[in-house]
Amino acid sequence: MSLHTLSVAELVTGLAAKKFSAVELTEHFLARIGLMNEALNAYITVTPERALADARRADAARSAGQAVLLTGLPLAHKDIFCTDGVRTTCGSKMLGEFVAPYDATIVERLQAAGTVTLGKTNMDEFAMGSSNETSYFGPVRNPWDLAKVPGGSSGGSAAAVAARLAPVATGTDTGGSIRQPAALVGISGIKPTYGRVSRYGMIAFASSLDQAGVMAASAADCAYLLQAMAGFDPRDSTSVNAPVPNYVAELTTPLQGLRIGVVREFFGPGLETATGALVQAAIEQYRALGATIVDVSCPNLPLSVPTYYVVAPAECSSNLSRFDGVRFGYRCQEPRDLMDLYKRSRGEGFGDEVKRRIMTGTYVLSAGYYDAYYLQAQKVRNLISAEFKHAFTQADLLIGPTSPTTAFDIGSKVDDPITMYLNDIYTIGANLAGLPAMSIPCGFSQNLPVGLQLLGPHFSESRILSAAHGYQSVTDFHQRVPAAYV
Ligand code: GLN
Repeated sequence: MSLHTLSVAELVTGLAAKKFSAVELTEHFLARIGLMNEALNAYITVTPERALADARRADAARSAGQAVLLTGLPLAHKDIFCTDGVRTTCGSKMLGEFVAPYDATIVERLQAAGTVTLGKTNMDEFAMGSSNETSYFGPVRNPWDLAKVPGGSSGGSAAAVAARLAPVATGTDTGGSIRQPAALVGISGIKPTYGRVSRYGMIAFASSLDQAGVMAASAADCAYLLQAMAGFDPRDSTSVNAPVPNYVAELTTPLQGLRIGVVREFFGPGLETATGALVQAAIEQYRALGATIVDVSCPNLPLSVPTYYVVAPAECSSNLSRFDGVRFGYRCQEPRDLMDLYKRSRGEGFGDEVKRRIMTGTYVLSAGYYDAYYLQAQKVRNLISAEFKHAFTQADLLIGPTSPTTAFDIGSKVDDPITMYLNDIYTIGANLAGLPAMSIPCGFSQNLPVGLQLLGPHFSESRILSAAHGYQSVTDFHQRVPAAYV
């Protein structure tokens, strides 16, 4: 039995039965990280001392009869979540030396649930990217093929879970950053409803779109983590005060009678043939499992990419104005005057993609262009939300591919922003409408994983997770591990 191939349920029952201790489990993962992280670059910071201290505390709590849901479970946090006393870089030189003075709410909640923090995972700078190549700390490699990207922006969490350098990891999704990397490395990832999980202590990119979620091997593993993360947080004004269902208990909700809508616009030009065929096969699998398949259409969905690339940069230009060399993060050497301090600190601290977004965002918000771009984008955003709402009168869940292609070569798209932005053509809609959505593995094309996307109405995480679990009960794609990491 290898500890890194066990599910979360197996890990927590193994810990409870004292088959292994939290310290042994943590040492196992730290050893794997020590051997394998250098090639993958999945972690920016590994925290062995802290992890072992957490693990000893977990073992002591268990011996004292005080174990809770996830006591002793190791995990990794995307380096966008503030961690008290631990460097929190957001993948940027700007925060390269920043040590957070407090924990993000989800970090705090997962700690209260008994988890052990192995470290902080690599990501695109300020979560802007689809390939993890914009990270100041270098690209992450895809464990299925080291020449390929793992997707982004949560590429470090994705690669860490796919290579089993952590059983589970946190991620964030503003336009697809949990689902697209999950698809490209063959794991499961859920972006909850906007407001379901607190954003407090998560470094802001585009506040009306950002949402924290989970990346893990299976939907069942995701359910355990989401259980501990979800719920109202008075420190996040957009957090929703609604009861949290029992995601774990509801995983086995039957698929019989579930209406699944195939979104026509998800199968247009640009979708790789092999990916499309695997997604169609998964749809047939759902039919065989008792679901009813219906056709639906969201005609404005193809406008989600241009809409997003107005709204997201607009919000980022505002959010990132706080990094001015004075209050947080990087400050240039020997500034001549205040203007020079601002200009050089931002000029030297931010990478190219972040600068491109700040400039685009500033432009679309400027007095002369606000109506033409920003206001127009908000109108299209409303149309897309309304189309989803209508689709959910015809279907309980929607289905389609997560990404139009499998993982691409490192370096192949990085100089072509428009091509890069098209990676998110199927994922962005859910963020614009605030909907929960998930990616699960549904097969392989030329030895690279393909992701299937499930979307639901607001607060339907339980239905999405159980639909994903139903599929994973009859398939084994989610259990496959790249040969070098078995
Ligand atoms: N790839 C998209 C972007 O670059 C989405 C990123 C994200 O979800 N954080 O903006």
